[in-house]
Amino acid sequence: MTDPGADRYEVVVVRHGTRVTRRSEVFLNHAQYGEPDGPFTVDYHLWVVRNATTTVLVDTGFARGPAEARGRTVLVDPADAYRRLGVDTDGRHPLVVTHAHYDHIGNVGLFPRSTVVVSSAEMDFWHSPVAGRRLIAHFTEADEVAVLSRAEEEGRVRRFSGSTEVAPGVVVTEVGGHTPGQCMVTVPTSAGVVLLTSDAVHFTEELERDMPFVSVTDLPATYEALQTVRDMVATGAVDVVLTGHDAGVLDRLEPYSPELAGVAGVVGRLRT
Ligand SMILES: [Zn+2]
Repeated sequence: MTDPGADRYEVVVVRHGTRVTRRSEVFLNHAQYGEPDGPFTVDYHLWVVRNATTTVLVDTGFARGPAEARGRTVLVDPADAYRRLGVDTDGRHPLVVTHAHYDHIGNVGLFPRSTVVVSSAEMDFWHSPVAGRRLIAHFTEADEVAVLSRAEEEGRVRRFSGSTEVAPGVVVTEVGGHTPGQCMVTVPTSAGVVLLTSDAVHFTEELERDMPFVSVTDLPATYEALQTVRDMVATGAVDVVLTGHDAGVLDRLEPYSPELAGVAGVVGRLRT
């Protein structure tokens, strides 16, 4: 197991939504695999990384309106989840935006004092004319992207390229592929280094069978991101991989609390 060092965190995974779809709807060019279609469950997650002194928010999940308009089932409103987890939304906790799709930035407005950490490539892309094209815009809400724009006008956006440390030991790394500035986050915990892939890897099957997700900006970069994750695991750089949309992630984790069973799980729980 990788030595996580002095600064350790717990990672709370909030499963705020779900939907049942078809394999052909989630795997790019599914027909090329020559496999039968079938049902496939997609869960929606956001993450809270914290210890006694520091909280880092990783994405904010979707807002109810855009989620329900797309046929997603809301399991818990993220605002309610933050409240039940005791997250102070008025605090200045860094907020990592792994990418700007609606199911990741739907509640950025809940954190009016946070510094928003997002890659330059991601910010630039969603403010470029092509972002309005139908098959791209499908994954965003204009008013939610506008929240990022306003945060930047307020001087609260911290852009970066490559990688950046947002709290001691918590590192955000840009991989692209799914979106131009798609990022992953590594977190040292008592269970080893946790990799939050966000949508660099939606599903374990995507990773294990090298089957990219249906929505890609850059297919070669998508394949390279999958390989990056495999390499991180193989070299022991990470110990626990948490994907963006796997169903059943919570089944493998310690429940955060009885009240939030099925909705929130924790890795590396810190008992204070
Ligand atoms: Zn997503």
